Amino acid sequence: MTTLYKKQTVIPITELEQSLFCQSDGNLRTKTLQEEFEAGVRWQKIPTRYMKISPEDLDKEINTCKEQLKDQLLILGHHYQRQEVIKYADVTGDSYKLSKIASLESKKKWIVFCGVHFMAETADVITSKSQNVILPNMTAGCSMADMAQLEDVEDAWNELGTILNLKSLIPVTYMNSTAGIKSICGKNNGIVCTSSNAQKAFEWSFDRGEKILFLPDQHLGRNTGLKMGIKDEDMVVWDPNKIMGGLTTKEISSSKLILWKGHCSVHTRFTLDQIKKAKENHPDVNIIVHPECTRDVVDASDYNGSTEYIIDMVNNAESNSIWAIGTEINLVKRLASENPDKNIYCLDSVVCPCSTMYRIHPAYLLWVLEGLIAGYLINNVQVSAEDRKYSKIAIDRMLNL
Ligand code: SF4
Repeated sequence: MTTLYKKQTVIPITELEQSLFCQSDGNLRTKTLQEEFEAGVRWQKIPTRYMKISPEDLDKEINTCKEQLKDQLLILGHHYQRQEVIKYADVTGDSYKLSKIASLESKKKWIVFCGVHFMAETADVITSKSQNVILPNMTAGCSMADMAQLEDVEDAWNELGTILNLKSLIPVTYMNSTAGIKSICGKNNGIVCTSSNAQKAFEWSFDRGEKILFLPDQHLGRNTGLKMGIKDEDMVVWDPNKIMGGLTTKEISSSKLILWKGHCSVHTRFTLDQIKKAKENHPDVNIIVHPECTRDVVDASDYNGSTEYIIDMVNNAESNSIWAIGTEINLVKRLASENPDKNIYCLDSVVCPCSTMYRIHPAYLLWVLEGLIAGYLINNVQVSAEDRKYSKIAIDRMLNL
């Protein structure tokens, strides 16, 4: 098996790319890859043949490949993937659940992760060495994970060390971060968390130290801190573009929670005005949002929790109930179609998918599957031995919570 294209190409989301996929009619029809490229996106280059294949032919060819590879292939589909991709997934879920399933399916040699880069890295860390993780499009990153660059976090850690005893500072990173950041946490007595166990990870950390450095999502960190009774004045935001994070020595020394200045470009689109409008339109509406939303949105909602929590709440709700949901549109649309007895819609009337998740187009899926059949391992995601070792330590601490 020859390995092709291992390096991730980080292509930040541009305003142009984000606006291309924001539509008010909710029609996110998949076009040929060539049509997507003509609209101005810059994704991973791919042989010309795949650019022009129609959605119907893609469907036939992907199913043929799946049939040929079925004994060794596991396709994972993150909840935020578009319908035209997730329909090929053997399992769907959030990033951690999918990686865990891949590790349990040890006979599956080829793990194709329809998600984003940090998810494929996590899958590589927790699966066995005989399993190979593939990301169909190496430009499918995550804008939040990209906000915590390794060098910036290392600099921050060193700068904080000039003021604090680092033994009393516990680094905690959200699953949505690179393996390098998880590895820093593993090396420095820290831990990884998901949006469903962030509070437990914070409690674990305060049992071992006096302060937490939370990466990379300031909103999940703040919402979790507030839930635990940490006061506003005990939380500060570290801006990696400023000297000493833009903070004074006193602010750092007296804080309990140092929040990295990062956010999710999808979940920070939800606003108080949208909640107000939803309540005006339907006084009985249930507002449910993800904790990556801003504090005012989380405070004004009826429920907040992880992707899996949102799915459980909506699936188990009474018939005829009304739900305005503050999370990624592909998941909201799927919940609406799977629960026709309920009125389910997205809080934001301008429909914007996660534009990096959207970079997984079915043509990329076909490309990597045909590669496997032809003996080419395309877009294999491999974490370095050192990052694998230390990020696993931080992930295992989370599992033992
Ligand atoms: S939804 Fe937000 S956190 Fe999740 S992959 Fe997209 S940008 Fe990253």
